[in-house]
Amino acid sequence: MKRRTTVISIMTTIVLLGGCASIPNPFAEEADPTEKETPVEENQGGEVQDPNEDQDEGKENPEEETETDTGLPDPEETVTVTADGKKVITNVNDPLVLVNKERNLPADFVPEDLVIPNVPFPFTEDLPKKQLQKVAADAAEALFDQAEKDGIPLFAQSGYRSYDRQEAIFTANAERVGEEEANKFSAFPGQSEHQSGLALDVTSPEVEFKLVEQFGETEAGRWVKANAHKYGFIIRYPKGKETITGYQYEPWHLRYVGKEHAKRIHEQNMTLEEYLGVEVEPVNSSQ
Ligand SMILES: [Zn+2]
Repeated sequence: MKRRTTVISIMTTIVLLGGCASIPNPFAEEADPTEKETPVEENQGGEVQDPNEDQDEGKENPEEETETDTGLPDPEETVTVTADGKKVITNVNDPLVLVNKERNLPADFVPEDLVIPNVPFPFTEDLPKKQLQKVAADAAEALFDQAEKDGIPLFAQSGYRSYDRQEAIFTANAERVGEEEANKFSAFPGQSEHQSGLALDVTSPEVEFKLVEQFGETEAGRWVKANAHKYGFIIRYPKGKETITGYQYEPWHLRYVGKEHAKRIHEQNMTLEEYLGVEVEPVNSSQ
């Protein structure tokens, strides 16, 4: 298959935690009032033309010009660009939707079919963050069923998070430590994958249900790394891929993409960015 060589420079000057860090937050959960159809705008132009297009080898399809023969969503064609240069995602309901520091979910995007998966949580309240898109919730139940059969103490900690809630979290943190500091551990609203309803943070008693890097070395963390793809999930922010994803290693953050895609991504040791043909130009990191 031909791979696109879209170049998107992802800012890695500051590598932030992926918007799902264990943020001490006093805010009460509340229903998101912005349940609307997501506006899918026409392309407004302004997307950057791929400067490396002519470097495509195109062995299999020399006549192929630009359009995808991969069956994968084109990162360039799944955003609109606002007047101030912000990229807003248009394929919001695609299981392969790419959300990162360059690509924002619309502020009013709420997945239409959020449900609470029947999986263990370390708390009992029915908080909104228990929710996932139905397709991801079903997959999570299968994943946790297998974990239980294998005797793995795996718990879900956080799924869906609304734009408004992410904004509240970010604002609260910014008021506490200043916006710049807050940026280091709290994602901008619209840039958290949790708003998609396809991301799920998992944890275990071994790390006291926290979302910490040590989770990756626990029995549950190792099991997840070896098995999540069988149920359609990937480790979204792998170790060693920080300059590509723009985020630190987060062994707890799972992202549903579907079984076939997860299998390929896992087998090829890829990030979602790489899988979708986004070639990242590394820039100096402050790490
Ligand atoms: Zn997360």
